[in-house]
Amino acid sequence: METKVYAARIKDKEELLASSSGGIFTAVSDLAISEGDAIVSAVYNYSSNRNEFTLYTSKAERDKARGSKYMQAIPGDSYITAEEWLKNNKGKVYFFGMGCQADGFRKFAKSRGLKDRVVIIDIICHGVPSPKIWNDYIGGKIEYVTFKDKTDGWKKPRAFIIRNGEKEEISEYDRIFYGDWALRPSCYKCRYATTERKVDITIGDYWGIDRIMPDFYSPDGNSLVLIHSDKGMELWKKIQSKLEYKESDLVECIQPNLAHPTNEPLNRVEFWSDYKKGGIDRILKKYASEKMKTKIVKKLKRVVKTIKNR
Ligand SMILES: Cc1cc2nc3c(=O)[nH]c(=O)nc-3n(C[C@H](O)[C@H](O)[C@H](O)COP(=O)(O)OP(=O)(O)OC[C@H]3O[C@@H](n4cnc5c(N)ncnc54)[C@H](O)[C@@H]3O)c2cc1C
Repeated sequence: METKVYAARIKDKEELLASSSGGIFTAVSDLAISEGDAIVSAVYNYSSNRNEFTLYTSKAERDKARGSKYMQAIPGDSYITAEEWLKNNKGKVYFFGMGCQADGFRKFAKSRGLKDRVVIIDIICHGVPSPKIWNDYIGGKIEYVTFKDKTDGWKKPRAFIIRNGEKEEISEYDRIFYGDWALRPSCYKCRYATTERKVDITIGDYWGIDRIMPDFYSPDGNSLVLIHSDKGMELWKKIQSKLEYKESDLVECIQPNLAHPTNEPLNRVEFWSDYKKGGIDRILKKYASEKMKTKIVKKLKRVVKTIKNR
C-alpha cells in the first residue's frame, strides 16, 4: 500500500510527558499487552549499564523501555527469545528498533516462517553512538538516565542521570552525540534513512510541526507516524481512540534522517585517534566544551533552516 502519514500524540498527558516524542510506543505497547502479545524493544539495564533488547509482556517492564537512549542497543539473544515465545504462546510479537535492527528482525522472522505473527515498528534514527564511549563516560553504577526529559518542553529536552540519589547533568555526552563523531561507522552509510521501508510502521519526532500544523502542535510532544502495510493500518485503527492525530504527507514531514544518512564529520578519524590516545577525558575536553556547543548549535540551526526552506 501507499505509505500513509500522520502527526499524532497520545491523549493521556502523563504518558505523553513520560515519552520522548508523542508516546506512540506506549499506545502500541498498551494494545499489545492488553491482547496478550509480547514486545521486544531496547531496555536500559542498570546492572550492566547496557541498552539491551528485551522481551516483555507487562506494563511495568514496558515503562522501563520508554525513552530514547543515546547508545547502541545490543540484540543479545532477543531474536531467539522472541522465536521461543512465539512457539510457546498463541499471540504476536511487536518489535521496536532502529531501521537496521528492525530489518534484521524482519528477515529473521521471515526465514523462520513467523512473518504473520510479528508486527514490526522501526524508529527514525540519527545514528547511535558506541556503547564503549557511554560506559567510559558514565564510569559506574547509575539509578536512572534520561536524554529527553520534558520539563522545559519537547523542543528543549534535558539529559541527566541519577547517581546515589543525586541528579547529574550529562550535557557533555549529549554534545558528543550531536557532534556525530561517536556514531557507528555504518550509520554514515545508513540504508534506512528513507521513507521507503519494509516494516509495518515507522515512528519518530515530527520536527517542524509547529510551522507545518501550528493548530495541532503541542509543546509536550509530537510524533510522526508512517504506516507502510495493511497490518500497520489495522494496528493504527486499533490505537486511534487513544490518540490525537492529523493526516500529513511525505513531503511536509520530511526531515534529514528520512532523506539521507547523517554526514560523517571531517574530523571523525581525529576524534577516535584522540580517544585512543587520551581516553574519555581528552575527547570531552576537546570536543564537548562550551565552544564546541556553540558550533553544534550553529550546525543544528543550519539544519532547521534547510528544513524550513524546503
Ligand atoms: C539514538 C536515537 C536517535 C534518534 N534520532 C531521531 C531522528 O533523527 N529523528 C526522529 O524523528 N526521531 C529520532 N529518534 C526517535 C525519537 O527520539 C523517539 O524515540 C521516537 O519518536 C519514539 O518516541 P515515543 O514517544 O513513541 O516512544 P518512547 O516512549 O520514548 O519509547 C522509545 C522507544 O525507543 C526504543 N529505544 C530507545 N532507545 C533506543 C536505542 N538506542 N536503540 C533502539 N531502540 C531504542 C525504546 O525501546 C522504545 O521502544 C531517535 C531515537 C534514538 C534512540
